[in-house]
Formats: sequence, structure tokens, C-alpha cells
Amino acid sequence: MNQQSLHHCQVCDEWQAEGIYVLMTFICKSCERTIVQTSPDDELYQQLVERMKCRPLMKQM
Ligand SMILES: [Zn+2]
Repeated sequence: MNQQSLHHCQVCDEWQAEGIYVLMTFICKSCERTIVQTSPDDELYQQLVERMKCRPLMKQM
């Protein structure tokens, strides 16, 4: 078994081996799925997105 390097998921705040990078932010597979399955109108969706963009770079309104 190869050791996989872990990435820190910005959304669930856990270290995960599998996931994707969105704009320098790592999102693990389960969080990605949650976001995809959640409606943009949903409060949960808004919370997830907020956690993803807590970087100054994203502060362009
Ligand atoms: Zn996650």
C-alpha cells in the first residue's frame, strides 16, 4: 500500500487523501459531493461556500 499524502479540507476541516483543488482551496470528495447535491438556495450551501472563500484573494465584490 502506498502512502497517500493528505490535504487539508477547507470545508470540513479534516485531512483527506482524495479531493480537488478549487482556486487554491482543497475540497475533499465528500464535501465536493455535498456541495454538488446542495441547492444554491440552501443555507448549508451558503455556509460551505463561505468556508471555501475565507481568503482575501476572493474578496472581490
Ligand atoms: Zn471536506
